[in-house]
Amino acid sequence: MTTDNERRLPAVLPCAACGKLNRVDLARVDARPACGSCRAALVLDAPIVLTEANFDTVVAQSAVPVMVDFYADWCGPCRMMAPVFADFAKRQRGRVLVAKVDTDANPALSTRFGIRSIPTLNVMRDGKEVARQVGAVPMAVLEQMIVER
Ligand SMILES: [Zn+2]
Repeated sequence: MTTDNERRLPAVLPCAACGKLNRVDLARVDARPACGSCRAALVLDAPIVLTEANFDTVVAQSAVPVMVDFYADWCGPCRMMAPVFADFAKRQRGRVLVAKVDTDANPALSTRFGIRSIPTLNVMRDGKEVARQVGAVPMAVLEQMIVER
């Protein structure tokens, strides 16, 4: 018999301190997992930083949807969006992997996803894009984007 307690939600997260990818079970986020390499606490309630180096691995191995914020530091609407996105990450902890990609530092990802305007928010499920929203949006729109269609 399977209960909710036995449900596993495997994911791979980059450590915010050293960048090493760590396997975690998002069904057990309250266990406060630490990085296997540097022992820093893994950040589960704030957006994680994805790069060209780790994007495909993290997206492909996540059992939950991944919401990606394509942004840049100089972009006003992106800065406006940042606190809403951070709050969203807190609320969806363990249910959605909330991530951000600096478009200046990762031009190949921007090209691959056809990012023409920032912020652009993508939801990836099973490695495929299932939703996209361009421009700063309120919490209600973020929540709508992760509803399965
Ligand atoms: Zn680490």
